[in-house]
Amino acid sequence: MTTHGKPLDSVLETIGETPLVRIHDAPSGVPIYAKLESFNPGASVKDRIGQYMLERMLERGDVSAGGTVIEPTAGNTGIGFAIAAEQLGLDAIFVVPERFSLEKQQLMDALGARVINTPTEDGMDGAIERAHQLADELDDAVVPQQFSNPLNAEAHYATTGPEIYDALEGEVGAIVAGCGTAGTLMGIASYAREQNPETYVAAVEPEGSLYGEFIEEEREEGEYKTEGIGTHNTETNELFDPELVDDIHAVPDRDAHEELRRLAREEGHLVASSSGAASAAAKAVARDIATGEIDVPYDSVVTVFPDSSERYLSKGIYRDFEEWEN
Ligand code: PMP
Repeated sequence: MTTHGKPLDSVLETIGETPLVRIHDAPSGVPIYAKLESFNPGASVKDRIGQYMLERMLERGDVSAGGTVIEPTAGNTGIGFAIAAEQLGLDAIFVVPERFSLEKQQLMDALGARVINTPTEDGMDGAIERAHQLADELDDAVVPQQFSNPLNAEAHYATTGPEIYDALEGEVGAIVAGCGTAGTLMGIASYAREQNPETYVAAVEPEGSLYGEFIEEEREEGEYKTEGIGTHNTETNELFDPELVDDIHAVPDRDAHEELRRLAREEGHLVASSSGAASAAAKAVARDIATGEIDVPYDSVVTVFPDSSERYLSKGIYRDFEEWEN
């Protein structure tokens, strides 16, 4: 648990207890709050699962100290796992589709991990397959499989969810969060629905992603620039439980980009595209609460800003929309 009041023994103790900050571009009477996950030591929400999953897997004997953790990852998970792996005495290998940001790959390398690239056109499925091949070739290697391992969502059920409820003294009306693996949203949503079954829950994906198919919504598959959320194949997203979700917002790249630039300019948040999408969707939910279209137990919306824009500067995240690279 993070404390700023006394010296800590390990960087792992600085994971979690991130700030929950008001977003001011909101309808009156419906405050929006964002959990700022870039305050974690690896600067993303994924530090939480790196620590939580590896600690549980070591306890359970899925892998032993001196063994290897291999994960297919878009990047932030690799950084989170790399930090925890080294501190817990494990080697780390990450399989990353080429299109993901170079900054993230450099950080995994700096943290002592090995990075293996797979072709962009093979997508996350290609990375997952390669990770399993590698695990078969090594002794005492484990693939945590963030896309299917319940420990991913459990990390957020155990930490992110309770932190939000403590900060707002339980007065949470709606949870809105982006879905990559859906671990963040599923963990928070299961905690939220236990606190109050009426809590409104909305998932966020980029336009072009297919999460909407989970709730029988029409979706047209397409490319998107928003990084870290969305899916091209819902069979991969084993953690997603449609029962825990009231709606799935598909946010166009253009809206996510406009919002991430506004968040920097007006509110001082240096956050990336998945945060821009989450904020745009959180504002839409807040507007629906304000007009009475959505019923909630409390007039408030909580969202998650998963990481920071600094990781995407080389892709021109703050340039004009057309110049922002995929
Ligand atoms: N935003 C970013 C930048 C991410 O890296 C991720 C993880 N892929 C997410 C959002 C989504 O988090 P989750 O996997 O828990 O759904």
